[in-house]
Amino acid sequence: MPITNNIHWDARLKDFKGPDTTLYVEQAGAAARKCAACQGPLEQGSPLSLTVDIEQGPNYEKDLFRRYKAYVCHLSCKDPELTWKQVADGGMPEQIETFGSRFVVGIESAFGLRKFAILAFTNTNNLTIREPGAERRGALTAELLMRKFQLAPSADYAQIVTMAAEADGTVQCRASADGLISLEFDNQPMWSLDLDPQDDDTATWLETARSGEVTLISGNHLRITETEVDLEFAAASGSLVIAKIPVVWSLPRKLASRN
Ligand SMILES: [Zn+2]
Repeated sequence: MPITNNIHWDARLKDFKGPDTTLYVEQAGAAARKCAACQGPLEQGSPLSLTVDIEQGPNYEKDLFRRYKAYVCHLSCKDPELTWKQVADGGMPEQIETFGSRFVVGIESAFGLRKFAILAFTNTNNLTIREPGAERRGALTAELLMRKFQLAPSADYAQIVTMAAEADGTVQCRASADGLISLEFDNQPMWSLDLDPQDDDTATWLETARSGEVTLISGNHLRITETEVDLEFAAASGSLVIAKIPVVWSLPRKLASRN
């Protein structure tokens, strides 16, 4: 039985997820806080199991979808499992796990050090869409390409911030001086962070974003954990997308609630 980061999973998952399987398992593990069976906490390093329920549309080969739901349990509570069923009708997944990070990169140029505010965002690849005649892309990358994001040529930050151009404006960042940062698609929040504005990194990010622009790095296969953002696999698999996105500044909540 394959094991990734202490998580035991059903080897047949690979038939569905292909080269994305390990990343999918890693992300499910990173998102899980408690055991889906006993609701107890998942201690670091303890043996875990992954259960994946797959639903597939009626005509996947032609144009339809597969939807994945993953549950992490203590291995002692439940063995790994994979279920599969065909469903009549599509619809988007009810819940998508999202992962994001904000940071600043400094790029040396002829004019000295220039700082760029970055947001990195991905979600669990729980939906794949088959585009007729095209290679199969994760849903997030496909969606952002439709919103005029561009494929990143490499995982090199200097190249990314230089190349990234404005997308179609439907993806934006909302920020406030008291540390609330959110990412919106069509004005709907996709992901948000509530940060301490006194924290040095947060203060630097807000200041950098205020003086210019925010570069969004996104797409399926992006590895985002609490401690790192790894673009390499996404870039190598052709699913890393980038764009400059507008920042809309909101009033700090304390002021806003006074009105
Ligand atoms: Zn348990």
